[in-house]
Amino acid sequence: MALEEAWAWLDAKPRLPLAHLPTRLEPLDRLSQELGGPRIWCKRDDCTGLATGGNKTRKLEYLLADARRAGASTVVTFGGVQSNHARQTAAACAKAGFDCHLVLSRVVDWRHPAYERCGNVQLDRLLGAKVHLFDADQTADGALALIQELANGEGAPYVIPTGGSNAVGALGYARAALELAVQCEEHFALTDVFHATASAGTQSGLLLGFGAAEAAVRVHGVQVYSPDRASFAATISGMVAEARGEDAPGRPLEDDDIRIEQGYLGDGYGIPTAAGLEAVGLVARLEGLLLDPVYSGKAMSGLIDQIATGALRDRSDVVFLHTGGSASLPAYDDVLGAP
Ligand SMILES: *Cc1c(COP(=O)(O)O)cnc(C)c1O
Repeated sequence: MALEEAWAWLDAKPRLPLAHLPTRLEPLDRLSQELGGPRIWCKRDDCTGLATGGNKTRKLEYLLADARRAGASTVVTFGGVQSNHARQTAAACAKAGFDCHLVLSRVVDWRHPAYERCGNVQLDRLLGAKVHLFDADQTADGALALIQELANGEGAPYVIPTGGSNAVGALGYARAALELAVQCEEHFALTDVFHATASAGTQSGLLLGFGAAEAAVRVHGVQVYSPDRASFAATISGMVAEARGEDAPGRPLEDDDIRIEQGYLGDGYGIPTAAGLEAVGLVARLEGLLLDPVYSGKAMSGLIDQIATGALRDRSDVVFLHTGGSASLPAYDDVLGAP
């Protein structure tokens, strides 16, 4: 009943269908056996369909519907050089018929030549986006100048924040939460979801969806971007409250609902960790499944660690939300390529 009300609330929001949904929920039997903990189920949001997929596609369904409604013909968004969000935005814009400008910033101190040529940034260009590359300290000025120039020319662009993370984009993950709740019903009681968290839209959306459906699910955001817990939690609270608006069913977010798993970030965003690289290799060899060193590999290293330390001892099943990211693998050729 609560689930139906949550669906009805979400279905009333404008959405531009872009993703292959529902994504599959698959058991990772060989990995689960190797780790000796609960059965791990993989929610395959790496297979959302557009140009190698990933979690941003679900957000873009709502964001581009909003861009259409605003009457924009051009979209601007932001990210690091190897931003999966930028690549998925480029693909979504190609499909939906928007001009796409990507403001990419050299925020990651990774100087291998493949980093600025291969992986996501190569695909951005192939997908027809205009790529504007800036040093980190030049990015804000560069972005302002670009937005001004576009506004003076073809009309105000629709500006999507980094990661597509705002109250509109988060609706995509509220939808994912409901989708997952339905899928789990036939297999097991859904208690825990692990995923990489960075710009907070995915985690906010999941919390929004489970809250709306009154489903008591622990959402473990494995932090891969920021070491600052307090400001990250505040971002989530704000985004969920705004997205709930006046009319959402279910229960509002409480501070205790926000679980941020620290300790797996390493030296910083985009810098691989030994445990993350190990997780990428392990899952590839045991499951034929591609993770990445920036997001999903670090998230998996968090799940592996929590199983090893016994934190999930009393759980029978846990869900790993695979948010994508394998498009960046060629950019990390120097740590993942042939010996
Ligand atoms: C963007 C991204 C994330 C993080 O999602 P947020 O909504 O930004 O927190 C996780 N994994 C991958 C592969 C991503 O591209």
